[in-house]
Amino acid sequence: MKKLIFAAAALFSVTALQAQSQVIAHRGFHAKEGAARNTIASLANAQELGVYGSECDVNMTADGELVVIHGPWLGDKNDPDRLAVQQSDLATLRSKRLENGEPVPTLDEYLDQAAKDSDCKLIIEIKDHDTPQIETKVVKMVLDAVKRHKLQDQVEYIAFREHVCNELIRLAPAGTKVAYLNGTLNPKYLKAAGYTGLDYKIDVLKKHPKWIEEAHKLGLTVNVWTVNTTEDLKWVIDHNVDYITTDNPEEALRLTQK
Ligand code: MG
Repeated sequence: MKKLIFAAAALFSVTALQAQSQVIAHRGFHAKEGAARNTIASLANAQELGVYGSECDVNMTADGELVVIHGPWLGDKNDPDRLAVQQSDLATLRSKRLENGEPVPTLDEYLDQAAKDSDCKLIIEIKDHDTPQIETKVVKMVLDAVKRHKLQDQVEYIAFREHVCNELIRLAPAGTKVAYLNGTLNPKYLKAAGYTGLDYKIDVLKKHPKWIEEAHKLGLTVNVWTVNTTEDLKWVIDHNVDYITTDNPEEALRLTQK
């Protein structure tokens, strides 16, 4: 009997350690009709779908406003009137419509929508800007906006630039989640630098699958982007990643909830 209880306890602890991977909608759930990437509609769709979180990209305009758009361009490369996001002012950007008819959302508008559902995290990616000084300014402005909207517990941060991440780690409230996107730093380095996790391209994790376990041993979270095919979704679920960033959140939910 004692042996049986021990075995059951051991099994329970293993199960508890292997928590289910959580789904993050990449640029919102944009695949649904009426939405487009990084729009209010795509965030609302992600909230409705019931995913762990919705990711978005933040840039600063030439007149110092924060907008949610991937950039560096608004409009595709065949569009002769496309605009360089960081070199355009807000009014000019908003005079042009996104694919679903919305104007480019400001970060404030995006945070207003995020506040409508406290169960859906907002994962803010701060994009590269021209100088470290500008990037520090953008980090401060984003953190101020999130604080003003009282969303500190609902927002997590990611960036490709180490400087942006370092400034987030330095300036955000203790416990704020910050993960590095660029795939070039190992878990030990990230832990020492104060990151809470890594968020790497699936090709990087396939090349360094041991980083997943190493990160977990160090108490870091593992997020992976952008995982869209059923085959890749199964691979990352089998490798116990914590978060899956995907353009295909419905399929990811189906597979993680199996
Ligand atoms: Mg992004």
